[in-house]
Amino acid sequence: MTVDPLIELRDVNKYYGELHVLRDIDLTVGKGEVVVVIGPSGSGKSTLCRTINRLETIQSGSIRLDGQPLPDEGKALARLRAEVGMVFQSFNLFAHKSVLQNVSLAQIKVRGRKREEADQRSRALLERVGLAAHAEKYPAQLSGGQQQRVAIARALAMDPKVMLFDEPTSALDPEMINEVLDVMRQLARDGMTMVVVTHEMGFARSAANRVVFMADGRVIEDRAPEDFFTRPESDRAKDFLSKIL
Ligand code: ADP
Ligand code: MG
Repeated sequence: MTVDPLIELRDVNKYYGELHVLRDIDLTVGKGEVVVVIGPSGSGKSTLCRTINRLETIQSGSIRLDGQPLPDEGKALARLRAEVGMVFQSFNLFAHKSVLQNVSLAQIKVRGRKREEADQRSRALLERVGLAAHAEKYPAQLSGGQQQRVAIARALAMDPKVMLFDEPTSALDPEMINEVLDVMRQLARDGMTMVVVTHEMGFARSAANRVVFMADGRVIEDRAPEDFFTRPESDRAKDFLSKIL
């Protein structure tokens, strides 16, 4: 499959002080692709996500989004953050604002939309994630799975070019995991470009175009899910899979 690249990392290296956390990372994510990133704890998966929306700086190499180098500061950086939607393990909703306000806020502040327009878009997105009936509630009145779906709607409201998910279901009770994965599967079917760090191997098998396996800050394997899961090449990946499957 040849598709236009949306995210391109070339020879990216990142250090935290002495700690070399991303090593010579080369990674391309095409438009509409779903890339699942897996690997042991501490392998650099979260750091990788955070460099893509410039929450972290890199020491060498280059990162491009839609052909453009990531901006360093100012309005261009704010725009980048909107274009790269991010969903974390912790939902980080505003507790004292309603679901609707949570989804509308950044649309008004960052995208400059009028409240009415923002609210209309928010309601459509809440419908899409199955929460139309909960718009006036507060986060504490929702389950973890519902809160995470609000967080997804909030990110989508910025019209992102790509969505990054960093272990979006890791903090959820088991019975809520699927409602979040279902929303993500639907997003993938709708053509959203997605980078997903997850331990949900069922999701990786069914929704990913590629699986990227990381260990010690390196990309060790980058392959189609059926190849990776049935014929992992590296000892690190074999060892990892034997522990989780
Ligand atoms: P993963 O998400 O794969 O578990 P991380 O990207 O969170 O891995 O972390 C990679 C390495 O970087 C780990 O050794 C971690 O302890 C270290 N690390 C992560 N964030 C920081 C930070 N802000 N300062 C210093 N070290 C960090
Ligand atoms: Mg992590």
